[in-house]
Amino acid sequence: MKRKAISLLSGGLDSILATQLVKDQGIEVVALHFTSPFCTCTKGDKGCGLQAVRTARELGVEVIVKVKGMEYLEIVRAPRHGYGKNMNPCIDCRIFILKEARKLMDEVDAGFVITGEVLGQRPMSQRREAIRLIEKESGLEGLILRPLSAKHFPPTLPEIEGVIDRDKLYDITGRSRKTQYELVDSFNFKEFSCPGGGCLLTEPIFARRMKDLFAYEVGFTMRDVGLLKIGRHFRLRHGMKLILGRNQEENDRLTTAQVSPHVLLSPIGFRGPKGLLTGLYDQEILEIAGNIMAFYGKNETFPVTIESINGVVDLHSVEKVHVDWDKLTI
Ligand code: SF4
Repeated sequence: MKRKAISLLSGGLDSILATQLVKDQGIEVVALHFTSPFCTCTKGDKGCGLQAVRTARELGVEVIVKVKGMEYLEIVRAPRHGYGKNMNPCIDCRIFILKEARKLMDEVDAGFVITGEVLGQRPMSQRREAIRLIEKESGLEGLILRPLSAKHFPPTLPEIEGVIDRDKLYDITGRSRKTQYELVDSFNFKEFSCPGGGCLLTEPIFARRMKDLFAYEVGFTMRDVGLLKIGRHFRLRHGMKLILGRNQEENDRLTTAQVSPHVLLSPIGFRGPKGLLTGLYDQEILEIAGNIMAFYGKNETFPVTIESINGVVDLHSVEKVHVDWDKLTI
C-alpha cells in the first residue's frame, strides 16, 4: 500500500489532529476540503476555504478545495438515507464527501483516506452502523482510517499492511473534546476555525427556510440559498418571498444581492428595513410588503411610501392592510 493518504480537512479540531497524527507516522498527506453554503464558519474573509488553506499550510500539507454545489443540493432535497433532526442529511452527506475522496485517491495515487471522525460524537453519522454503511456505499471499505477513534474499530488495511502503527492511534469516543484539547496543546496549533465545525442544516429556523425554498422556488440558485442566511423571511406567494434586513449590515447585503428578477424595496420618509422581493411584484404584493416594512420600522401612519428599484426607481403609496403573520413568516 502507498504511504500516501487523503485527509478530509474541515478545518475543525478533529480533522486537524487526525491529519497531524498520520503525518507524524511519515505518511504523505493531501488534504481535501469542501466549502459549503451551510457552513457556519463562513464569515467575511475568514471563509472556510481560506481557513482550510491556512490550516493546511500550518500542517505542511497540500490542500485541494472543492465546492458543495448544486449536486449536493439535490442530496439535501432528497437524501436516500433520510434526515437527522432537521434538514441535515448526514449519512448521504458523508457518502458524497467520501466518494469525492475516493476519486481523489485515484487521481493522486493515494492508498487510503483519513477522517477526524470520533465514534459517538454526532448522533446520526457517527454511530457504528452508520459508519459501516457510509464506508460501504462510498467504496472505501477497510480504507478509512480514523486516528482519533481507531482502537474502537477493526484494523484498517493500512494498519494490517504495516503502513500505519496502530499503537500510535487513539480510542476517543463521545462528545467531550478533553483529549483533543490536550493533543492540540501538545502540537501547539494556532489555525483552526471552530472546534466542531457547524452546519446550518441542523438548525430549525434555517431548515424551515430550506424546506420552503425547495417547495416554492422552482429553479433556485446558490445565490437564493445564500440569501436564506440573511434577514427575516416572509413567503408571500409561490415564487415570491420578502426578505427584510435586520440591521444596516443586512440592508447593505440585500442591496448588493439585488439582481433580476429580485426587486429591492426601500422605505421613504420613515426609518425602516430594506426589503428584497424575490420576484416581480403587483399591487397586492407591494401592499403586504409595505405593511411588513412599516411594522418593523415602527411606522403606524398610513399610507406609507416605499420605493422599488429594479433597473428604474418607482415610488409607491401603500395603504394599511391585514397581514397574516402566522402564514407568511418562515
Ligand atoms: S451536520 Fe451537515 S455537514 Fe455535517 S454531516 Fe450532517 S449534513 Fe453534512
